[in-house]
Amino acid sequence: MPADRLLPSDEARAVVELAREFAAGELAPRAARDEAEHSFPRDVFRRLGELGLLSMPLPARWEGGEVPYEVYLQALEELGGSWASVGVGVSVHVMSCWALATFGTDAQRERWLPEMLGGSLLGGYCLSEADAGSDPAAMRTRAVRDGGVYRVTGAKAWVTHGGEADFYTLFARTSDDPRRGISCFLAPGRAPGMEPQTPERKMGLTGSTTATLNFDAVELEADRLIGQEGDGLSIALQALDSGRLGIAAVAVGLAQACLDCAVAYARQRETFGRPIIEHQGLGFMLADMAAAVQSSRATVLEAARRRDRGLPFGLQASVAKLVATDAAMRVSTDAVQVLGGAGYTQDFPVERMMREAKVMQIFEGTNQIQRLVIARHLARDRS
Ligand SMILES: Cc1cc2nc3c(=O)[nH]c(=O)nc-3n(C[C@H](O)[C@H](O)[C@H](O)COP(=O)(O)OP(=O)(O)OC[C@H]3O[C@@H](n4cnc5c(N)ncnc54)[C@H](O)[C@@H]3O)c2cc1C
Repeated sequence: MPADRLLPSDEARAVVELAREFAAGELAPRAARDEAEHSFPRDVFRRLGELGLLSMPLPARWEGGEVPYEVYLQALEELGGSWASVGVGVSVHVMSCWALATFGTDAQRERWLPEMLGGSLLGGYCLSEADAGSDPAAMRTRAVRDGGVYRVTGAKAWVTHGGEADFYTLFARTSDDPRRGISCFLAPGRAPGMEPQTPERKMGLTGSTTATLNFDAVELEADRLIGQEGDGLSIALQALDSGRLGIAAVAVGLAQACLDCAVAYARQRETFGRPIIEHQGLGFMLADMAAAVQSSRATVLEAARRRDRGLPFGLQASVAKLVATDAAMRVSTDAVQVLGGAGYTQDFPVERMMREAKVMQIFEGTNQIQRLVIARHLARDRS
């Protein structure tokens, strides 16, 4: 059942409708099979690029769709509801392009962005390391300037699209300064000395490749530095504010899909002579699931509308990520319960979605880190 959305314009309705049709026609039919085969759907991202659904919120001047965040996130919800790996992939690609689009010089943007946003290329985002996840300032990968190049040595962990992407937004240490020691670079997808490792074997999201990238004196031209030396951590954290909204939107889509599956099942499955949805204990469970989906969507849209108006939205983005991903975990777990034994089998998508929901509480800042961000806002705003 399509979500009942209040969209701001006919153009917005067309974008979300396009995403919904693509999700129903091209993602839903193959998601379970590709996930089971751990197969990365590169062709799907090419097709999304052709349809203009890969770089939706990025500037039109450089081939983006310049769609408001409020609209982009609802389109992303549709994609993520049919196939979380694809929704997450679109969100990561957008975040990977955002640093250059926002902090690059005009010369850098003219040189690289049209191709990055044109639809045929896919991006990755290299911030985390094995010993620097929640605390990215602890990173050890180094970029050392040598004349006209930087030489990068170290290892970036957990890279979504690692080994598959055509470019990476890469964060590396250029000094030991605790505040301004990290810088941001645009790295090509392949370069001498850059070695993707065997992808992680994960609980879910198995259609999305996650891999460590090793860097052994990888040379980057000096003009691949985005912003100034030392701007990196600030760029990374600002990118994550927007990226978290993407993950939150995918979580809402996943929760909506679980709710739809559970309601359809509960209407037709009978016990004790009537549909299980008419047993109050189960009906209340479904009501709580519906309330969780709707309230999650509201937090995502609140943050998106603030972003679209140029207002601060970091606090709201953390609230949305926390609320929507915790809700997705709960709703997907409850959906399995509503389906009983059938919910525990691969005959229905809810067991896969329950596994996929778990990672959304972990990446782009764990939900403990979201609480930390929210608490810091509360402490600061009251002082
Ligand atoms: C499938 C997947 C894809 C990913 N994709 C990317 C990507 O594309 N790019 C990228 O850069 N990273 C990516 N990541 C990395 C992800 O962002 C990190 O895993 C995450 O930030 C947590 O870091 P960690 O795993 O090192 O956990 P840790 O930082 O070691 O945390 C362990 C536990 O301690 C808790 N914790 C830590 N510090 C605190 C604190 N101060 N207060 C309370 N609790 C705390 C955490 O919440 C967590 O529960 C991905 C991860 C996964 C699993």
